[in-house]
Amino acid sequence: MTSAISIRELTKTYGRRTAVDAATYDVPRGSVCGLLGQNGAGKTTTIRCMLDLLRPTSGTIEVLGLDAQRDSVEIRRRIGYLPEEPTYYPWMRVGEITRFNAGFYPTWDQQLCDTLIAQLGLPSDRKLRDLSRGMQAKVGLVLALSQRPELLVLDDPTSGLDPIVRRQFFEAMIDKVHATEGTVFFSTHLLHEMERIADEVVVMYDGRVLVRDSLEALKRSRRRLRAVFSGDSAPAAEHLPVRLVESRPHFRDFTARRFDAGLVAGLRDAGFDSVEVIDMDLEDIFVDEIGRAGGALDGADTTTSRETAA
Ligand code: ATP
Repeated sequence: MTSAISIRELTKTYGRRTAVDAATYDVPRGSVCGLLGQNGAGKTTTIRCMLDLLRPTSGTIEVLGLDAQRDSVEIRRRIGYLPEEPTYYPWMRVGEITRFNAGFYPTWDQQLCDTLIAQLGLPSDRKLRDLSRGMQAKVGLVLALSQRPELLVLDDPTSGLDPIVRRQFFEAMIDKVHATEGTVFFSTHLLHEMERIADEVVVMYDGRVLVRDSLEALKRSRRRLRAVFSGDSAPAAEHLPVRLVESRPHFRDFTARRFDAGLVAGLRDAGFDSVEVIDMDLEDIFVDEIGRAGGALDGADTTTSRETAA
C-alpha cells in the first residue's frame, strides 16, 4: 500500500452550502503534501472528515489503510494532529503538558521531545497561557512529533506566525519527519510556504479539487506562452490546447497545462511571428487554475501575495 491517505468522492454539505464537493485524491506515503486553498475552500472540513471529527455527507476516506470512520480510534493513535486552533490546558506548564501527553502514546519519544523543546527555544517551566501564539504553535508541533506518528496532519499550522517562527517550525518538522520516513499532510493558504516545503500539492477552490500532482511535475508541465504578432489582428489559436490569459496590441499570452514543443510550432503555424516560453511558479499555476475554474481572485486576499520576509 503506497497511499497514506485515499479520499474518494468526498462530499460534505452544511445545509445548502457544499464545503467539499466530490473530492478524490491520494497522498503518497513518505511525501510532504500541501493542501492549498483560499479561505473557505474546504481544507479544514476535509481534515476534520479524515479524523472523524465530522461525518462526510458521502464518499470514503482511508488513512494509513484504515477506514476513517470505522477505525478512527486506531487512526488517531497512529497520527499526529495539530488543529487550526489547538486548545490546551492553559494552566499547565510546557514540561507538564509533554509528560501528560506522553502517557497517551506508546510510541512517545521523550528524548526527541526534549531535543525539540531545546531546539525551538521553548521554556519548560512557563504556563501555556503565558506563551505567545508562535510558542503555542511550537508546543503543538512538539507534542505531535514526539509521538513519532506515521502521518502528521497539520491544519494551517503557521497562520498568523511571523516568517522566522514559520521557518523554524517547518524546519523542525521536515527534519524529523524525513528522518522517520513519515508523511506530512498540511493545509495552508500561503503559496510561498507551500512551494518551499511541499513535494505534493492539492489545490482546492470552492470545495472542489482543482489540482493534485507533484510540485515538480506541475512546474515541469506548465508554461506561459507569449505569442507575438504583427498586423492588426491576432491569429486564431482556439484549435490549440492553450488558454488565453492576456491580450495586448502585439502579443497574446496563453497558458498550457501540458507544454511541449508542438505547442510553439502550433502557434507559429497559426500565424504568430514568435513565441516566448515562460516558466510558471506555483502562484502563476494557482491563479491560472482558479481562472480556469471560473473564479476571480480578490486583490485583497493574502493567498496570492508573496511573503517578502520569508
Ligand atoms: P480557512 O482557510 O478559512 O480555514 P478552509 O479552507 O479550511 O478555510 P472550511 O473551514 O473547510 O474552509 O470551510 C469550507 C466552507 O464551509 C466555508 O464556506 C465555510 O463557511 C463552510 N463551513 C465550515 N464549517 C461550517 C459549519 N459548521 N456550518 C456551516 N458552514 C460551515
